[in-house]
Amino acid sequence: MPPARRTAPFCSASCGGLADAVYGFPRGPTSDIPGGVDARSLSLPVMPSGAAIPMDAETAATYGLTLRGDARAHGLFDRFGRAHTYLRISVTERCNLRCRYCMPEEGVQLLPKDHLLSFEEIERLAALFVRLGVRKIRLTGGEPLVRRGIDDLVARIGALKAHGLERLMMTSNALLLREHIPALLRAGMDAVNLSLDTLRPERFRRVTGREGCEETIAAIHAAARAGFRKVKVNAVVMKGVNDDELVDLARAFARELPIEMRYIEYMPFEGNGWGEELEMFPAASIRGRLEEQLRLEARGLNDGGAGTAQMYDAFEKDGRPFQGQIGIISSMTEPFCGTCNRTRLTADGHFRWCLLDEGEIDLRAPLRAGATDGDLAGLIEQGLRSKRAGHAPAAVLKETQKAAGPTHARSMIRIGG
Ligand code: SF4
Repeated sequence: MPPARRTAPFCSASCGGLADAVYGFPRGPTSDIPGGVDARSLSLPVMPSGAAIPMDAETAATYGLTLRGDARAHGLFDRFGRAHTYLRISVTERCNLRCRYCMPEEGVQLLPKDHLLSFEEIERLAALFVRLGVRKIRLTGGEPLVRRGIDDLVARIGALKAHGLERLMMTSNALLLREHIPALLRAGMDAVNLSLDTLRPERFRRVTGREGCEETIAAIHAAARAGFRKVKVNAVVMKGVNDDELVDLARAFARELPIEMRYIEYMPFEGNGWGEELEMFPAASIRGRLEEQLRLEARGLNDGGAGTAQMYDAFEKDGRPFQGQIGIISSMTEPFCGTCNRTRLTADGHFRWCLLDEGEIDLRAPLRAGATDGDLAGLIEQGLRSKRAGHAPAAVLKETQKAAGPTHARSMIRIGG
């Protein structure tokens, strides 16, 4: 291992080589990154990016992006200058539901326990990402609340608010939520996204393979009363399955309560039957269906334009306003990659820079082999240097996943959304 790396914690060129060194890391100080680095204030040295995937300006342009050259492929910036300040951490591959759009009917082969990151490892990586510039962390799964000791883990991540973390959120199916609400709030949880695709128990059973519709609805209402900064309900819309319930869902949660009702275009993932057993209901049709009975006023992409949802104020036709907003997440037909600020850490410790790209770098093995934070930061940068301007068209994604199969392509439950 070239000793030079020790003095230049952020030398991405060598970090690239590092990955091939099969992690023969000399045991050294665990962190050589000065505390409180704000990636947004870093002056970025120009770095060659040997193995970076060539990006055609045309694809980039379709996303309103300009290839800014290698200089930006550092810290949490990608080569298009997008700052990745939002990290989604999957804390488990287990779930107490079997949603058809999330995993293969036969379920997924769960990884051995020791393949999953421990609390200490999640905490260390989260702290590193925060020092690199992450300001928002979302905990996902599988279903995060089935992870034993989850309240303790949330408290550990919440403590990073003293070191630059600004927002802590969770995505959950809400089935276990009510008993965890007090601990989540104590730990600094700001917002929860709760999954519910239907208000009808028998349809819930068909989509999720389990009972729980009433408990989920009760938990959503409990969350709305609990004092979170934000409560959102996410429904994945599937043609001929729940597209006839869109207005009912909006009226159930967003009319009388300040809950955001969001509709998600069904996306292709390994083994989720996209375009075969189940069909996507595109954003334009979702809008059309809602506007049959409601009036929508567009408010643009959420999260200051870097979000995933197109937001709308909603009104009944007689003018009565909704307390909560409507959101439509249109990854497939109206993608929002141009302002993407998201990356992911999978439950088994892989850094994934795009939801819809199978590209990943394993952080778990080097971490367990004694890598320093500088080494890990180098691997994170290497990953971001590979980030494309946007995702491939759905048909290409589907073919890629099929060719890769369950060994090399991840189902949604193994990414965490
Ligand atoms: S598909 Fe990838 S690049 Fe596009 S918004 Fe999602 S994570 Fe970002």
